[in-house]
Amino acid sequence: MSKPATSKPVSSRLPTPSTQRIPVVNVSASGKIHVREQKGVFQKIRQQTNTLLIAIFFLIPFINFNGRQAILFDVTEQQFFFFNITLWPQDFTVLAWVFMAAAFALFFVTVYWGRVWCGFLCPQTAWTAMFMWVEAKVEGNHHHRTALDNAPLSMSKIGKRVSKHTAWAVIALLTGCGFMGYFMPARELYSDIFSFSSGFWTGVWVWFFALCTYLNAGWMREMMCLHCCPYSRFQAVMFDANTKTVSYDAARGENRGPRKRNKKQLALVNDNKPAGLGDCVDCHLCVDVCPTGIDIRNGLQYECINCGACVDACNQTMEKFGYLPNLISFTSENALKKGEKPSFWSVKALGYAGALVVMLVMIVLDLQSRTDIQLNVIRDRQSLYRVVSTELNKEVTENSYLLKIRNKTQQAAFYNISISYDNLSAYDFAIANDTVVLIKAAEQLEYPITVTSSMKHPDKQGLSQTRETLTFFITEVNSGGEIVQGKPLNQVAQASRFFRP
Ligand code: SF4
Ligand code: SF4
Repeated sequence: MSKPATSKPVSSRLPTPSTQRIPVVNVSASGKIHVREQKGVFQKIRQQTNTLLIAIFFLIPFINFNGRQAILFDVTEQQFFFFNITLWPQDFTVLAWVFMAAAFALFFVTVYWGRVWCGFLCPQTAWTAMFMWVEAKVEGNHHHRTALDNAPLSMSKIGKRVSKHTAWAVIALLTGCGFMGYFMPARELYSDIFSFSSGFWTGVWVWFFALCTYLNAGWMREMMCLHCCPYSRFQAVMFDANTKTVSYDAARGENRGPRKRNKKQLALVNDNKPAGLGDCVDCHLCVDVCPTGIDIRNGLQYECINCGACVDACNQTMEKFGYLPNLISFTSENALKKGEKPSFWSVKALGYAGALVVMLVMIVLDLQSRTDIQLNVIRDRQSLYRVVSTELNKEVTENSYLLKIRNKTQQAAFYNISISYDNLSAYDFAIANDTVVLIKAAEQLEYPITVTSSMKHPDKQGLSQTRETLTFFITEVNSGGEIVQGKPLNQVAQASRFFRP
């Protein structure tokens, strides 16, 4: 991990108690910072949320539904399968609503709990934590890693480095497979990749995402949060005085300064510090455990991902010195300055909640309005019409069409083709082909048909026009061509022109 840039406060929420920076202790000669491992309440929660996130990421592609992968973005077939719903490109507005709903949900959460997403659920943070865990297992704690960095090249150093990078590469490759498992059948993908028998482009994409994972989680780490993530730049817009975020209580902590622990006085809370000093013992632990390398005592900074490591570290120190906990805590500006409880009501939060509800309603409406059949009628433009019979009062004309019928469900189905036309027409219309067709699941059938128009009985009068409008209907039926009783009518229609001399 390279040395972070100087922290830039993005808000004047807290007074900056000291601009003097204490040198970071776990920095190797190359300038790489080795974050100190920290235990505590928030780190336990992080561990659990990260584990859950990673497990969900890898397991989802293995869930099957109706004999196929339940969630699959099939790029080659241009379909998105989500359990019993199949979305085609023209249905992708639903996905747009879903992404917008997710964004507003994130904004809503941010108003109350700041960047809690970054610290506890962001994939970048979760994968970085996994890579750091591997690093600690192979190379030891932050002291050992710093010493190893500074040590000259040796067989032991090479062995540890090779072991670490091999483990990282395997995790990265599994992640590449896991990611691509959302775009192609996952079960075959893993075996194809690890047996080196995948297709060329499949291999390219898996190795590309594996490389991205290796570089992001192994090398770039917090650099992604500091320099690449747009959310870190605009998250302050969602903050207000009631937003809970990791903050240092400067009024209580300053003046900071080292002191000796007086074990006899530990029971007398806040009674064992030299005159003129606040509760901060300047132990530097809050900086040593920070994955982005900042000092939270300098105030709210955009680099802070709200991971809570400094809260756990400081609480550990407070306990050792017999002070009250939460010198650093998840709290709001109002709570810090005025001792107020955070207000639940916030114009921003209500605005984001309103937008979220609108997006959820749009998802429901969009899903309800989509049909399981799609019909496209294309008239044969080569010949406008064909006159089959010109016998007096028995004129017969044909027009040709190409029907593109798409079965958007995940089961094969029979469909009946029918037409309707103006009752006042002087002609009767009929389809000259079979009118019941079978279409496989998630397939499109291109079906050429001929429609004939024959003059009604001479006794029957009607409008005689050179062009008329026909409406084609596609209705889901059973194998006998009948509408299934008790099942909602599944039907679509599209109009087209019929020409005659
Ligand atoms: S961990 Fe707490 S006591 Fe130690 S330097 Fe940070 S704020 Fe001060
Ligand atoms: S300042 Fe504290 S909460 Fe923020 S990133 Fe650093 S350790 Fe995590």
